[in-house]
Amino acid sequence: METGPAAVTLDLDDTLCRYDRSTADLLALAFDRADVEPFFTAAEFAATIPTVTGESPLDLRRKCFRAIAAEQGQPERVADRVAEAYPERDPTAVSFLPGAREALDSLADHHRLALVSNGEPSHQRAKLETLAISGAFETTVFGTPETGVKPDPEPFYRVLDALGVQSERAVHVGNSLASDVVGAQAAGIAAVWLREDGSADDETVPEYVVDDLAELHGRPFPWEQG
Ligand SMILES: [Mg+2]
Repeated sequence: METGPAAVTLDLDDTLCRYDRSTADLLALAFDRADVEPFFTAAEFAATIPTVTGESPLDLRRKCFRAIAAEQGQPERVADRVAEAYPERDPTAVSFLPGAREALDSLADHHRLALVSNGEPSHQRAKLETLAISGAFETTVFGTPETGVKPDPEPFYRVLDALGVQSERAVHVGNSLASDVVGAQAAGIAAVWLREDGSADDETVPEYVVDDLAELHGRPFPWEQG
């Protein structure tokens, strides 16, 4: 009997690819342009993203920055100034994470692949086209306010439906504990966490942890190891 997952679902941002310009750089530029003393870090911005939803990148930033400002006793208008000064992301200025291309090829040799990525669909599609991996996935679900945003399990349910696969026959690979691990587990899918520097969480325990995409370059995959 075949055991182990029939399908591997993958996150996109900071799992398979990342922007060529770092969030820290763009945030520094935004504070500078807005003439505001920096009052939060890129890491705090990243941690706040899964807690809000936005209709556009600007709306998302505004809500994130307002939430952080509220915690820190900063006026909302200051948050809005930084959000507006933040340069728009260029979805064609992205690159693979080390080992991502090889991991995709190797996973595809043994599994059906799908993408579950939060973000505005046309923006996310432009990244896939830039990386020339639009055709790598049997199905692609973008988490939006309409479909539900990870960690909402809804995008995962959609991808399982599209594949016709039960949750226990899938694993999800992603870099975010808050959106990928929590969301996949909420949908009954085992999570493979691509561990990020210095982040840990006592409450969220992924089924598998990898530190490098090279760990997905061939059999046995983490979920095949006894
Ligand atoms: Mg990600």
